Amino acid sequence: MAKFMCTICKYSMEGDTPPEKCPSCGNTCSFVDATCYTPECGCEGNLNPDIYKSRQ
Ligand SMILES: [Zn+2]
Repeated sequence: MAKFMCTICKYSMEGDTPPEKCPSCGNTCSFVDATCYTPECGCEGNLNPDIYKSRQ
């Protein structure tokens, strides 16, 4: 299971594939795989901090 994050509103969800339409902002935005593959890094919501912060 991967974590996907909306590049527009930063909504994140878990799934095997990214959704076609963002359930949060309703746009057909692109979802990036923001899965943090380092469980012990303690990052927020298991999102890759590098990806998460670069979108802020
Ligand atoms: Zn969105």
